[in-house]
Amino acid sequence: MFHLPTVQFTEEQEQFRLEVRAFLQQELANGTFTPKCDSWLSGDDPKFSKLIGKKGWIGITWPKKYGGQERSTIDRYILTEEFLAIGAPVAAHWFADRQTGPLLLRYGTEEQRQFFLPQIVNGECYFGIGLSEPNSGSDLASVSTRAEKVEGGWIVNGQKIWTSNAHLCHYMVTLVRTSPFDGKNKHAGMSQLIVDLQADGITVVPIKFLTGEHHYNEVFFENVFVPDNMVVGAIGNGWAQGLAELAFERSGPERILSTFPLLDELIQELKCQNNREGLKQASKVVARLWSLRNLSIGVAQLLESGEGDDVSIPAALVKALGTKFEQSIPEITRLLVQTYPTLDAQRKIDRLMAESILHAPGFTIRGGTSEVLYGVVAKGVVAQ
Ligand SMILES: Cc1cc2nc3c(=O)[nH]c(=O)nc-3n(C[C@H](O)[C@H](O)[C@H](O)COP(=O)(O)OP(=O)(O)OC[C@H]3O[C@@H](n4cnc5c(N)ncnc54)[C@H](O)[C@@H]3O)c2cc1C
Repeated sequence: MFHLPTVQFTEEQEQFRLEVRAFLQQELANGTFTPKCDSWLSGDDPKFSKLIGKKGWIGITWPKKYGGQERSTIDRYILTEEFLAIGAPVAAHWFADRQTGPLLLRYGTEEQRQFFLPQIVNGECYFGIGLSEPNSGSDLASVSTRAEKVEGGWIVNGQKIWTSNAHLCHYMVTLVRTSPFDGKNKHAGMSQLIVDLQADGITVVPIKFLTGEHHYNEVFFENVFVPDNMVVGAIGNGWAQGLAELAFERSGPERILSTFPLLDELIQELKCQNNREGLKQASKVVARLWSLRNLSIGVAQLLESGEGDDVSIPAALVKALGTKFEQSIPEITRLLVQTYPTLDAQRKIDRLMAESILHAPGFTIRGGTSEVLYGVVAKGVVAQ
């Protein structure tokens, strides 16, 4: 039904992995960060983002003229895998690096690229994703935040919800309706605008996460002016552009490794206890991880080569399977070792366990729920 390439890392790529790993181990030893589960979503640390920006590790695949390194998607895969495996705080710049940059490279104007990309690369400019609304989640075509044309730009009114880190981001790529539903094509009439989150008329209201942290938000727009030069791509093409963005979002290592720091700690704990039966169980988990990782790298390789088909079906499959996997790690841990999970625990495994339990419910919701992804895969199978 679909063919995913197998990827052999080159000598240089293996060297790059070791370089990234050594850097992270050194920063960990220096006390620069505390490893966290789900660090790509809730490990906000602008200082750390600037540090890795200096290393040239944000926007690593982008053209040099915008500050990138023109390295491969596989190099980026290696980099993100190492960040997530150790639980480094990469959330501040995550969406800008993963989604906004590629979106602007594909659909943005030259002015937008020159303005935003170098700031993102330096780890100084963060973007939120403004898709979901109170009455629009899986069925994104029902978005009702609207933008009306005025002299020199657009006036936006409406509301977004569940916007990760909107309180820390500088801008948000916002999906809006620029013309009303015509009664026929619900995907028509949508556009993407870059909204300055400091603009007059924006109100950001926190929604507390299960951990009690301020992670996501409601964002209200009241007559917010967005200049014409902040429209991304073509007016009315927002749906197609948003779908292209999803391909970058869905099947990366962050859909498998959100609880990897806990799995790693579990294995250390079992080794310390010389718990051979426990290690046997854990090795089955590692084998599943290995297969999922190969699928995920295969999609990354397809995106890199731009070969053939649409990657939306394998990407949906990887996300559906990968997020179930990462969600299962706290339960597997519970069955194999005794833990006392609290967020402020001194023992590392107890703290990682608490973070994983409280973050795990969101894994199969964010970026498209599992049920919706099963639908995408099923339609793909039927169409074969
Ligand atoms: C941690 C986290 C971070 C998030 N960050 C962001 C963000 O930064 N920006 C943003 O825009 N959004 C964000 N979201 C929101 C997320 O994208 C939505 O929650 C998600 O798309 C689901 O939408 P919903 O919550 O409206 O649920 P609904 O779409 O109302 O779904 C409710 C239930 O119905 C099921 N369902 C819906 N449609 C179908 C169907 N066609 N077939 C079968 N079952 C179906 C779903 O699977 C689900 O179980 C975040 C969510 C989480 C958990």
